[in-house]
Amino acid sequence: MVLEVPAAEVGWAEAPSVTACSDQDETRQNGKGATTDRRKALRQRFPLARPFVQVCAHTMREDCPRGSQCTDVHFVRAIRPHTEVSLGDCSYLNTCHRMSTCRYVHWILEDPLACDVLVPPAPVPSRSEAVERVKVLPPQWVNVDLRDFDVSVLGKYDVLVADPPWAIHQELPYGTLTDDEMMRMPVGAMQDEGGLLFLWVTGRAMELGRECLKAWGYDRIDELVWIKTNQLQGLIRTGRTGHWLNHSKEHCLVAVRQSAHSEAGPSSKLRACFNRGLDTQVLLAEVRETSRKPDELYDMIERILGGRGQGRKVELFGRKHNLRPGWWTLGNQLGDRDQVFEQEVVTNFARRYPERAIHLSNPRNAPLT
Ligand SMILES: [Zn+2]
Ligand SMILES: [Zn+2]
Repeated sequence: MVLEVPAAEVGWAEAPSVTACSDQDETRQNGKGATTDRRKALRQRFPLARPFVQVCAHTMREDCPRGSQCTDVHFVRAIRPHTEVSLGDCSYLNTCHRMSTCRYVHWILEDPLACDVLVPPAPVPSRSEAVERVKVLPPQWVNVDLRDFDVSVLGKYDVLVADPPWAIHQELPYGTLTDDEMMRMPVGAMQDEGGLLFLWVTGRAMELGRECLKAWGYDRIDELVWIKTNQLQGLIRTGRTGHWLNHSKEHCLVAVRQSAHSEAGPSSKLRACFNRGLDTQVLLAEVRETSRKPDELYDMIERILGGRGQGRKVELFGRKHNLRPGWWTLGNQLGDRDQVFEQEVVTNFARRYPERAIHLSNPRNAPLT
């Protein structure tokens, strides 16, 4: 039986003990107790955005020494008429494209309420968190082709996320942009000095992406690695991509918008208001639909900004599954209906593109996604 675990992400959060450990190491190494205290306080103020149900490290309840007393969630085999258990696990697990005929074993999560001990409820948000949640606007989006769009109508953003349709293969599949088009993207015009950009790069875009950063006026300050895990929380070993080694990771460049008018030439400085030291360079997250990136990046950015309702943030080349409360999404696959709650943007838009009026949406009528 499949029981949905409502509003809970399974097995995606870092364990608290790891956090405590790294704090000790940090103190030992640099002796800066004050920094550590500040980081601890920040972590408490900006906890993980989603409730968390732990997946048991033993995967199956019959392998679990705690047996029916274990409060973690376990996996059970999804045995269908065509399943042949002797073949073992399907390499693709829950991302298998032929689930209805695949003879290999697939897994589902057990009903967490079926064990003898109930799963402890998610912590109730404190009053300040509840207030913060109310202030967050539902997702905003405009369906545009970014190649020929005047981004000045949107105003400036504190954080940009972009997962561009890089032309990374020899044969250009429909929908990719040429290198020249990518270099000419008006990315830099969307941010003031010190704004943060998170740019997903893959294949030859690992080099091209760095060239784009220069062309757009950014300095790369870091790089995130997404380690792709499968449903059973193991490393993805049989990737659908990769001509040589199977692809088990992806890269995201982190860059800061340069100052345009620095005397010593272009320079960049991370804004002091951004929270530092809360997250690591490694995202450990399950793969989902092809090319879809993990939501953990949004969580990380919201912690950097001090909460989901803080700062203006936008995703470029986004699709409908990227729409998110507190965020803007721009892309050309977002459908006919726009959703905008900022009067200034509506006004600017009407002035610049009179032929295409966008209307001010009412946040009260918009469902939170
Ligand atoms: Zn267990
Ligand atoms: Zn399969």
